[in-house]
Amino acid sequence: MNESCLFCRIVKGEIPADIVARTDDAIAFRDISPKAPTHILVIPKEHVASLDEVGDHMDLGFLVRLAREVAKQEGIGGSGYRVVINTGEDGGQTVNHLHLHVLGGRRMTWPPG
Ligand code: AMP
Ligand code: ZN
Repeated sequence: MNESCLFCRIVKGEIPADIVARTDDAIAFRDISPKAPTHILVIPKEHVASLDEVGDHMDLGFLVRLAREVAKQEGIGGSGYRVVINTGEDGGQTVNHLHLHVLGGRRMTWPPG
């Protein structure tokens, strides 16, 4: 828990969020500024600043599995979706708590901007 971290505060329930799924280790909630009809963030409950900070002990499978589960729950499992981890400044990361974006409900473009 990092007191100054927005997503840690969402995990703790100090800041409201539209939580769509939870597991022992992770939660998924709707992005406040959605970039697609479905836009959900999947985060570990434990504070990890970014993908770059993930230690060798930490397997991200639990987050990827929850992302897939949420996509299914949102009804976009079949039509397809995109899972993105923005990392660091050039990666466009604005919140320094590891998160997977799950985006779908429309056709994504490639390459991303
Ligand atoms: P990133 O730019 O990859 O770090 O993604 C951070 C995401 O968090 C952005 O898509 C924001 O819209 C989203 N976000 C910021 N504050 C909140 C919040 N309070 N609740 C839900 N999503 C948020
Ligand atoms: Zn945090």
